[in-house]
Amino acid sequence: MALLPWRKALVTHTEDATHNTRIFFLEIQDTGQFDFKPGQFITLDLPIDEKPARRLRSYSIASRPDGSNLIELLIVRTPEGKGTRYLFEEVKAGSEITFRGPQGVFVLPEKLDKEIFMICTGTGVAPFRSMIQHIYHHHISFHKIHLVFGTRTRADLLYYDEFRELEKKLPGFGYYPTLSREQWAEGYHGYVHGVYEKLCEHRPDARFYLCGWKNMIDDARKKILEMGYDKKAIHLELYG
Ligand SMILES: Cc1cc2nc3c(=O)[nH]c(=O)nc-3n(C[C@H](O)[C@H](O)[C@H](O)COP(=O)(O)OP(=O)(O)OC[C@H]3O[C@@H](n4cnc5c(N)ncnc54)[C@H](O)[C@@H]3O)c2cc1C
Repeated sequence: MALLPWRKALVTHTEDATHNTRIFFLEIQDTGQFDFKPGQFITLDLPIDEKPARRLRSYSIASRPDGSNLIELLIVRTPEGKGTRYLFEEVKAGSEITFRGPQGVFVLPEKLDKEIFMICTGTGVAPFRSMIQHIYHHHISFHKIHLVFGTRTRADLLYYDEFRELEKKLPGFGYYPTLSREQWAEGYHGYVHGVYEKLCEHRPDARFYLCGWKNMIDDARKKILEMGYDKKAIHLELYG
């Protein structure tokens, strides 16, 4: 398949989401409308290395397709990371970014007839935010959606108020934030695995969407298979 062409985007502004995550608001140039499917990502070509292959970093689109040319990326600063050092220290309102996309097949099926488990840690929530907002704004019917979001402490929660609001407005949508390093009354404690295992006790007919880093994804995949689900029911977006 031919690669998509390189395009330009302007950073309109940025906003710190937490102490180590930032939302980058991009305006795609030379078009009034940027079409993508919720769950897809774009690949940035950052001026951080001589070799083109070492300059590429991919990011899920965290916003929903709304008919405009504006998108949001939710990015965590990686300690010692070359790409995120550049993004967090050099990129500001008015910066131009070279990218290609949209890309990827981590998207929802046409019919949301089974229960859907969206399991993620940290900025792995980005594609799910796009999907859930899309479902809400287009009144797309679904059976049940469970968003299981894991992070360390309250200070690391992402889109917390937004998902709590959506929980009230979107019947069938359940939000399960879980903290691994802090006890709290409002949500769960521990890793994501214990949360979806409990929700799956009665073995509902389900599809699983996993997004984030290797350790969580490997463990989740293993546990979901051990619960007796087929590997075809599991969809992955591996960040690294
Ligand atoms: C499909 C996809 C979507 C993603 N979406 C998000 C998102 O929405 N939010 C988010 O925070 N992160 C996301 N990531 C992770 C992101 O792409 C970066 O890996 C992350 O930001 C760390 O980049 P870094 O350059 O700071 O760290 P680094 O450790 O410097 O680089 C991380 C990765 O970049 C590549 N890389 C680094 N150096 C080299 C080199 N010398 N040669 C070749 N390759 C190299 C490697 O793949 C490495 O694992 C996504 C990843 C993928 C694959």
